[in-house]
Amino acid sequence: MTRVPLRRALADLPPYVPGARAGGGAMAYKLSSNENPYPPLPSVMAAIADGAVDVNRYPDMYATELTEAIARHLDVPVESVVTGGGSVALLGHVLAAVCEAGDEVVLPWRSFEAYPIYVTLAGAVGVPVPVGTDGRLDLVAMAAAVTPRTRVMLVCTPNNPTGPAVRADELAALLDAVPKDVLVLLDEAYVEFVRDPEAADGLAVFAEHPNVVLLRTFSKAYGLAGLRVGYAVARPRLAAAIRAASTPFGVSHIGQLAALASLAAQQEMRTRVDAIVAERARMLTGLRAQGWHVPDSQANFVWLALGEHAKSFADRSARAGVLVRPFAGDGVRISVGETEATDLLLEVTAEVVRR
Ligand code: PMP
Repeated sequence: MTRVPLRRALADLPPYVPGARAGGGAMAYKLSSNENPYPPLPSVMAAIADGAVDVNRYPDMYATELTEAIARHLDVPVESVVTGGGSVALLGHVLAAVCEAGDEVVLPWRSFEAYPIYVTLAGAVGVPVPVGTDGRLDLVAMAAAVTPRTRVMLVCTPNNPTGPAVRADELAALLDAVPKDVLVLLDEAYVEFVRDPEAADGLAVFAEHPNVVLLRTFSKAYGLAGLRVGYAVARPRLAAAIRAASTPFGVSHIGQLAALASLAAQQEMRTRVDAIVAERARMLTGLRAQGWHVPDSQANFVWLALGEHAKSFADRSARAGVLVRPFAGDGVRISVGETEATDLLLEVTAEVVRR
């Protein structure tokens, strides 16, 4: 039978595994997707409702008002901001904008599971550099992995799924070591949760280094994961290239309005993020008191390096009513959510260590 041939690269593509969802009517806390546990703010709900009447029209392709609001919020030129359908879409647009077939992209591993997928789809070759046992990126090894074929380096900070943030001094050393024509993508999806005083300041680094691009999102701290809005911050020439490589009308009208309303609600957002950070501390302290070795987390999740027990732990936790995200053979990532969910989780982890 003659069939449509598929791209060879697809055969090797690792699947993106979404976090488990509650099903079958059983009540479960969903700590499997790094989502924000809080419902949308009333002001954001109102913006979403207001936007509904216009959905027969295409959205503003350049998300003009939102782009201007983000630029003002970050104090960067408006030409430097590119919005997209979640920061994951922007990851694809950045790679599409700079990678030729066969170019190399240095990335930490284990890290965000979309990286190898998007690198492969861009026709590039991923060069994974192992993350240390403390869950920290090894920026020295990443710098050493650069070759003349390297076009991009992905730096996930805080690192999903292990938790630590890259420190300012390590990042400064990396940027000194890496050639100026290599694009260094700082993926700051969780930046609002960072409290480590030694953590790198992405915006300051962006101001100093023309080859640095930042990725940020409204999905995590702002709680708009379901609406798919993220953005990149890049020098105008790179930003224009990322825009050129973007999906037209990539951010929906309702997404634009909700993100604008969210930016306007800084105080409420900070209060919620502070509560999640406090809950993270409670989860980390509780786990460590039970004897678990848990890497530092500067994000809204923690990592248990359970190795071959990852899947069985996730199953056990699900039976107890807490959905977590296993990475088979490696570990489980547990998002920080409701206090009741932390309590239940700590009951499960206590039983597992006692066994
Ligand atoms: N980067 C990292 C490190 C992430 O963990 C995620 C979400 N899992 C994203 C980017 C993408 O988020 P979004 O597309 O919702 O903005």
